Amino acid sequence: MTDSKKVVVVGAGWAGLGATYQLAKQGYDVTLLEAGSQTGGLVAGWKTEGGRSVEAGIHGFWYPYRNIFSLVKELELDPFTDWTRSAQYSPAGLEVESPIFQELPRLPSPLGTFAYTQFKRLPLSDRLSALPLMYAVVDFDNSDQAWQRYDGMTARELFRQYGVSERLYRESFEPMLLVGLFAPGEQCSAAAALGMLYYFILAHQADFDVVWCRGTVGEKIFKPWGDRIQNLSGKILYDQRVSDICVDEFDKVTAVTCGDEKFDADAVIFGVGISGIQKIVAGSKTLQKRREFRNLMNLGAIDVLAVRLWCDRKVNVPRPSNACFGFDKTTGWTFFDLNALHDEYTDETVSVIEVDFYHANQFLPLDNQEIIEIVQNYLTSCIPEFANAKIIDSSVIRLPRAVTHFAPGSYQHLLRAVTSFPNLYMSGDWVITNHGSWSQEKAYVTGLEAANLVIQQLSQGNMTQILPIEADEPHIQIARSLNQTLRNTVNSLLSGFLGLS
Ligand SMILES: Cc1cc2nc3c(=O)[nH]c(=O)nc-3n(C[C@H](O)[C@H](O)[C@H](O)COP(=O)(O)OP(=O)(O)OC[C@H]3O[C@@H](n4cnc5c(N)ncnc54)[C@H](O)[C@@H]3O)c2cc1C
Repeated sequence: MTDSKKVVVVGAGWAGLGATYQLAKQGYDVTLLEAGSQTGGLVAGWKTEGGRSVEAGIHGFWYPYRNIFSLVKELELDPFTDWTRSAQYSPAGLEVESPIFQELPRLPSPLGTFAYTQFKRLPLSDRLSALPLMYAVVDFDNSDQAWQRYDGMTARELFRQYGVSERLYRESFEPMLLVGLFAPGEQCSAAAALGMLYYFILAHQADFDVVWCRGTVGEKIFKPWGDRIQNLSGKILYDQRVSDICVDEFDKVTAVTCGDEKFDADAVIFGVGISGIQKIVAGSKTLQKRREFRNLMNLGAIDVLAVRLWCDRKVNVPRPSNACFGFDKTTGWTFFDLNALHDEYTDETVSVIEVDFYHANQFLPLDNQEIIEIVQNYLTSCIPEFANAKIIDSSVIRLPRAVTHFAPGSYQHLLRAVTSFPNLYMSGDWVITNHGSWSQEKAYVTGLEAANLVIQQLSQGNMTQILPIEADEPHIQIARSLNQTLRNTVNSLLSGFLGLS
């Protein structure tokens, strides 16, 4: 180990732990520095003083999360529920029920999604108004050019431009944006909206199928994963807030600093969120000198709120996971029946319910009691039985500026894994990758990609195999290739016409 190359990884979320694990497996002298007191980042879980399990919001693992599923298998863990059905509510009651798509006869995408989703009120004519949008779905192929074409437009403009009816937008697409990108359509990049919707819903029929951890993700995945890293001699140090980097005369990073403490490194991987990197840049003269890092100050992050309620009785919640819209114009929320999802509550005689709010700006200043009253009222609109339940315990976790905001025009400021410092790499769910995944899977994949770049540079060990997302279905491949040919022809005709070539 004494001759091993030293790597410092910053941030112990999916990205940072993913990188640390791969490097520890390849025999690197790897140190993971985490500002908080546990692993998991946005997915961290812990116990309250009263011994109740809580976490920073419930996290689903969708069908295309191939790399996370493969990791869990490699770690020999068994953390997940079976595939679950979900529902959608508005103040008018139940709106949509989703089946387990992989159990139904497979149709070419996105027909299965449209045919098998059970809309309770939304008229067929509104649903059919989504058809023209398929052109944008085909045209957005996750390439750099596609991001640049669509990123300047808001998702709201995109749906309007393609003739999506007001009602379909309000009752279907905007709720998906609020839950998938944590922001309303007028604040989301159209590129991010297309990428996210394709990955989670449209690419293959089964993509919307989801599993959940049978306890907190912290306890079920991060704790044993951290132990495995430490068994491989990887070091995980808590309460270490990285404040700066040190560079030599060739711009190579030689160390990171945490206040007065210095950690030497042959390479460094950042796996911190947008707010985290902005704080580091704000205090670092070295990073501020680079335009790419200064420009990170243009990015935004979104407030979320995670509430857990213990009721005095069992309330019958038909589906374990539920998304809601129409309660607050710019806020989406979800609720989960933890008796159905978490082992520790299966035999409870009282209901334990998680309620998470995304783009929750207006709720964060309220005191806990005010928040709980709102939550109980909202739950009652969906499931009237909640009116009779008394809340006997609760946890309210405020997460200001926590999640990545894919705002219109933000793509130009996002970083890639490779930076202008030769041995400094970036990872996290906001970092540009060609992989095509989103959220936890993207964070983990970018951690693996950064680890591979370090392995390549320092020539110690073998690169990790990263599983690609499932290929586009044949008809989408044909449509994309025709579209590309048409685009190239039009471009060359135009440049010929304008005398550019
Ligand atoms: C309420 C909620 C619900 C969500 N639901 C889902 C879901 O259902 N499915 C899904 O896939 N995704 C979901 N997400 C998104 C998912 O949590 C993120 O995409 C993912 O966790 C991001 O991981 P990351 O490693 O990029 O960053 P993070 O998890 O943000 O980790 C960054 C880490 O860096 C540390 N750090 C920051 N600054 C420093 C510093 N200076 N020094 C040292 N350490 C530092 C932080 O403490 C943190 O531990 C949800 C998020 C929230 C908040």
